[in-house]
Amino acid sequence: MSLQFQIEKTLGSARAGRLFTPHGEIETPVFMPVGTVASVKGISQDLLEDLGVQILLGNTYHLYLRPGVEVVRELGGLHKFMSWPRAILTDSGGFQVFSLNELRKVNEEGVTFRSHLDGSSHFFSPENSMRVQIGLGADIIMAFDECTEHPASRERSKSSMELTLRWAERSKKYFEQHKNEVPWKSSQLSAVSSQPQQIPHPAFSPVRNDMGFDGACQSLFGIVQGGMDLALRKESAERTVGIGFPGYAIGGLSVGEPRELTREVVESTLQHLPADQPRYLMGVGTPEEIVQYSRLGVDMMDCVLPTRAARHGLLFTSEGKISIKQARYVKDENALDPNCGCRVCRRYSRAYLRHLYAANEVLAQVLNTIHNLSFYLDTMRQVRHSIRLGEESRFPTGL
Ligand SMILES: [Zn+2]
Repeated sequence: MSLQFQIEKTLGSARAGRLFTPHGEIETPVFMPVGTVASVKGISQDLLEDLGVQILLGNTYHLYLRPGVEVVRELGGLHKFMSWPRAILTDSGGFQVFSLNELRKVNEEGVTFRSHLDGSSHFFSPENSMRVQIGLGADIIMAFDECTEHPASRERSKSSMELTLRWAERSKKYFEQHKNEVPWKSSQLSAVSSQPQQIPHPAFSPVRNDMGFDGACQSLFGIVQGGMDLALRKESAERTVGIGFPGYAIGGLSVGEPRELTREVVESTLQHLPADQPRYLMGVGTPEEIVQYSRLGVDMMDCVLPTRAARHGLLFTSEGKISIKQARYVKDENALDPNCGCRVCRRYSRAYLRHLYAANEVLAQVLNTIHNLSFYLDTMRQVRHSIRLGEESRFPTGL
């Protein structure tokens, strides 16, 4: 068994638990920072460890284009390549193909698309996405899906959902046949014969416990689609569960629909997913939303928002959003967020952060990213704590 999930406490629909992966244990519900091209923009891996990040997300589409799966595989997989000893999840590439390629062509076999880097033509199929994700070697990988655009007719949502179901079967079939090709084992072997000058591989210690968990290989999650149609979402969930995966994601949301609709689809879809398996809501959200979705029973979330907003000077605090570029902060000697204990809030004033941003200093992006990620991770710590205490009133508010 390569993944194990334990729910330790519930509060209403919310659950606090632990997810065991080959590269460590993850406390859930969890927010996963996005490391698009084997890097969380603006912050180094040692700082991410200090912040308590237990799992990162990597984007298959971007890594496939640059540096390429063969480079990462030959260097021992993504963990070793980026020197990240903890868990990693890769997406299937389906969403980026959808969002970055207006000229994509979808057929039964897969998707033909053009690289956003140089315009070259590429093809992704369920088998190809699995091959790339096995080569990258994340702990959790995702079935190849089609993200349905919004708005879409019921007919279009249905045919897209059916395609995603057929692709889920093909993803699982390929994965089952090739899952032993993950690069960890070869990286362990190469560590034995490594040259003295090589950088040591971050501690690789497959997690073992007394419940039959051996951390031997990757785990493949299925993805529920179905557009904004609740009946299609139900059907997609039930049939994806019928194919059988160790965890399930809700995809195809945050594609321009109103937030109330996102919430309605999530709440409804969750009812049709197994209660004892991890549930991953892809691509959300704001601090308020990650709290709200945890409350509904989501266990895993990811979003570029905290890191992307940081680079634009938009900071999340316990007192609401701050746009640090504003002139009102020129002489503000206060900490960015008086209730935040991160290394930025402990050390620097709003005035200094405002100056760095206005002067276009690289350090502005670094410090803003550290704070925003700290804020997200602290928010999730509070959520888990509230669930474990059984006190809903302690859920973070006033974000
Ligand atoms: Zn802070």
